Amino acid sequence: MSADQTQNLTDGMHIIVDALKKNGIDTIYGVVGIPVTDMARHAQAEGIRYIGFRHEQSAGNAAAISGFITQKPGICLTVSAPGFLNGMVALANATTNGFPMIQISGSSDRAIIDLQQGDYEELDQMNTAKPFVKASYRVNKPEDLGIALARAIRASVSGRPGGVYLDLTTEVLSAVMDKDAADKTIFTVEDPAPRQIPSPDSVNKALKLLASAKRPLIILGKGAAYAQADDNIRQFIETTGIPYLPMSMAKGLLPDTHPLSAASARSYALSSADVVVLMGARLNWLLDHGKGKHWSPETQFIQLDIEPSEIDSNRPIAAPVVGDIYSSIESLLAGLKSTPVKSPTEWIVSIDEHKKINVEKMAVKLNTDTSPMNYFNALRAIRDVLVDHQDVYVVNEGANTLDNGRNIIDMYQPRKRLDCGTWGVMGVGMGYAVGAAVTSGKPVVAIEGDSAFGFSGMEIETICRYKLPVTILIFNNGGIYRGDGVNLHGDQDPSPTVLMGGARYDKMIEAFGGIGYQATTPAEVQEALRAGLASGHPTLINVVIDPAVGTESGHIGNLNPKSVVKN
Ligand code: ADP
Ligand code: MG
Repeated sequence: MSADQTQNLTDGMHIIVDALKKNGIDTIYGVVGIPVTDMARHAQAEGIRYIGFRHEQSAGNAAAISGFITQKPGICLTVSAPGFLNGMVALANATTNGFPMIQISGSSDRAIIDLQQGDYEELDQMNTAKPFVKASYRVNKPEDLGIALARAIRASVSGRPGGVYLDLTTEVLSAVMDKDAADKTIFTVEDPAPRQIPSPDSVNKALKLLASAKRPLIILGKGAAYAQADDNIRQFIETTGIPYLPMSMAKGLLPDTHPLSAASARSYALSSADVVVLMGARLNWLLDHGKGKHWSPETQFIQLDIEPSEIDSNRPIAAPVVGDIYSSIESLLAGLKSTPVKSPTEWIVSIDEHKKINVEKMAVKLNTDTSPMNYFNALRAIRDVLVDHQDVYVVNEGANTLDNGRNIIDMYQPRKRLDCGTWGVMGVGMGYAVGAAVTSGKPVVAIEGDSAFGFSGMEIETICRYKLPVTILIFNNGGIYRGDGVNLHGDQDPSPTVLMGGARYDKMIEAFGGIGYQATTPAEVQEALRAGLASGHPTLINVVIDPAVGTESGHIGNLNPKSVVKN
């Protein structure tokens, strides 16, 4: 007996969809198959938007980035075992980056799985997920679906956000129960991410330390971007007059052209600051763990973070302010009345001197045209178009394409730059592009290395199928890092770093009805990008870059172990 035939009966798939709707979930990103196909169909019938991908990893990345943009958990739906595992890469990445996401997966027959009797797509998914998530739950009874979703929502968005796994067994998806009884089991989660107000003492201590600083520096991380405290953060920086450095996904929290941005004097600012305020930024590898040549051992730290155990993770923190950034900034702003902080005029002057020198050096690189193009002149072309399109999302991944893109492409609005994040991962590009376009309805420009694009390239079919306003620029140098690698054995096979030289990625998108361009000069890049943005049509621009200009591992060559034995 199916649920639709009998009015007063329902089943697991209907209950979970009702529970999702009750909690304001309006989109599911996924790949269907056994046993979740009908659940997706039903979700769509109920008005939840279902975005179907070609690979679960991209569906998961779309869900994760929608979580970052909206502060609501992004939902990814996967099939059992292999589909589940494909999605796990994105879920683990969400946890690492602090993006709220719930991966809901169907799973096979639990009795067979637990006795390892060899089921179709057999895997103990709940336990497999555990090391990669904030919480991992399995639902065995249909009457538990409401409470399970509530737990998943709470775990994903409260405290430091992250990934949550929710396992729905085949039995529970098809289990039938009385509709009225089922309705009583689902509810709207009340205050899923409660404010966490910092202690007044910690705020006072931080302000006193800041007021004593001669060379203070604020580092804005993606936790600050996530918190949506944009106006207050800007007010805090402008009233104190303290220079700031944005981490890459915090770019645009204040416009990159802001006079207090120290971004183009990064090394100088980091190594010379006496007090550094970490606002939703971790002292991880992206900041050299607060050690080494970029840092002074004398620097004192104030750290604003929601996660108490983050404090002292790499260096002692003199003034921890544990709370959510929104509340913490509010408290700091209020505290400025009794503990005013003076703008460090001399420090700003010397930062400005360093900025000027670096900007002039960079201008020479940017304004030198070459044939074929290099990263600098091609990115300059994009930068000059995006000045006129400040509301677009910029997705950026690759090695040199990422490192140079981060420095050259200015951001003007918060949460608009979406990139490789904490892991420095490749393969997020098309998932993030779809997630951003679907969540916001705004145009997306994805600036991709040719290698990075390859990990999720099939999703251009998804982009075309949903007619999303995404323009993809492939920085095509025919290789990983560079396209001119040499096979040290001397045979026919290409070097490990070499990809297809002269590949026409623009032809790929034409297969799905998108618009392709080949661009060999900065002027052609600009013309094609402007056309893509104006049309709102899925567009792919093959940007031909000199195979000989990339740096191995981009800016993190120091992390790339090299053999000491020469072939
Ligand atoms: P970035 O890579 O930009 O430096 P990280 O991801 O390393 O940023 O750091 C972000 C930090 O922000 C994490 O330690 C996380 O706990 C914290 N965080 C995330 N959301 C909030 C929030 N709403 N309030 C306070 N801290 C937050
Ligand atoms: Mg390349």
